[in-house]
Amino acid sequence: MTKLVLLGGGHAQLFVLEAFARQRPDADIRLITPDALTPYSGMLPGVLAGHYRTRQACIDLRPLAERAGCQLMLGRAIGIDSTHRRITLAGGEVIDYDLLSIDTGSTPQRPDIPGAAEYAQPVKPIADLLARCALATPRAVSVLGGGAAGVEVVMALHHRWPAAHCTLIERGATPLGGLGERLQRSIGAELARQHIDVVTGAAVTRIDANAIRLDTGRTVGSDFTVLATGAAAPDWLRDSGLALDARGFIEVGATLQSTSHPEVFAAGDVATLSASPRSKSGVYAVRAGPPLAANIARVLAGQPPLDWRAQRHALMLLACGRRHAIAARGGWVLKGDWVWRWKDAIDRGFVRRFDPQADSETAAG
Ligand SMILES: Cc1cc2nc3c(=O)[nH]c(=O)nc-3n(C[C@H](O)[C@H](O)[C@H](O)COP(=O)(O)OP(=O)(O)OC[C@H]3O[C@@H](n4cnc5c(N)ncnc54)[C@H](O)[C@@H]3O)c2cc1C
Repeated sequence: MTKLVLLGGGHAQLFVLEAFARQRPDADIRLITPDALTPYSGMLPGVLAGHYRTRQACIDLRPLAERAGCQLMLGRAIGIDSTHRRITLAGGEVIDYDLLSIDTGSTPQRPDIPGAAEYAQPVKPIADLLARCALATPRAVSVLGGGAAGVEVVMALHHRWPAAHCTLIERGATPLGGLGERLQRSIGAELARQHIDVVTGAAVTRIDANAIRLDTGRTVGSDFTVLATGAAAPDWLRDSGLALDARGFIEVGATLQSTSHPEVFAAGDVATLSASPRSKSGVYAVRAGPPLAANIARVLAGQPPLDWRAQRHALMLLACGRRHAIAARGGWVLKGDWVWRWKDAIDRGFVRRFDPQADSETAAG
């Protein structure tokens, strides 16, 4: 029987489990994940802001795996040997596979800044950031990195700690660089409305317990510093033998198969579509789910996988800390409290689709 390993319970892999629950393939299936609860990215800023409890923004993989006839194994991959088709886990176990599907996400980029390791908290893993938040009552918060995650996180933390002075520090000319002027203007207005300081065109040279030093000579007070400096590839892929892109992410073709090893599928942040690279975002990880599920089923059934073309523009919904959000797609931008309610309905609907218990358990507990 084919040994299929699903590595990581990321957004795309959820669709594989859902498809297998509908129609079980003739395969010996394992899901390897460090935690049974996998967070849903769209709701993370809402968890930080205090609108949701953590459980509401997580999908329990256990019932999903059970329905799919899949053995769930708690573990974290630390290496893949694609020649011998083996995965090594942090505990030392070695797992063989015939077919592998990787959806393990990205890791936060850790800038080489003195003091960052001691005094700054990366946005991921979100459980660690939440644990730090639960213990803190900061006077000054800084978020490094003005991408979508950084912008959402600084507004979420401002909402969580209204008395704290909040600063967003971006090396480029503007937050959300490359995402369109109308969206940049809307976000700029929202940050100004919330009295969040935005420092642009400045690189951080040192992070201390109570301050951040910039190459412009300026010092920003900060006793709670968060790194939202972008997505990096997991370093355990480096010696896997899989074809990787220049940044170390798994290179896949239009069928979501590795360009070097067709028995390996990859989707979500960990993968780069070689012909049409897309930004590392939850939206694209979700979009890749149905074609990933269909192609794994086809390969298991002895059929050729089909090409998938990722759409160029995706709807972006940015939470603004308070119950207010900004939507953008292509050239248009909409904002309002109703956009937050729309986003809330989409996000809750996504989690409920895979884990109907997520909301009710929270209500009970
Ligand atoms: C604060 C914040 C807010 C964000 N907001 C948005 C947003 O609003 N919209 C949006 O589109 N994107 C957003 N993003 C980006 C989004 O989180 C990612 O693009 C998305 O989660 C990628 O999905 P994925 O399926 O690739 O991986 P993930 O969702 O990261 O899932 C990976 C899974 O694999 C598991 N795993 C990790 N390493 C291993 C390993 N070594 N072995 C086994 N399992 C492993 C993890 O535990 C996890 O369950 C946000 C990111 C952050 C940090």
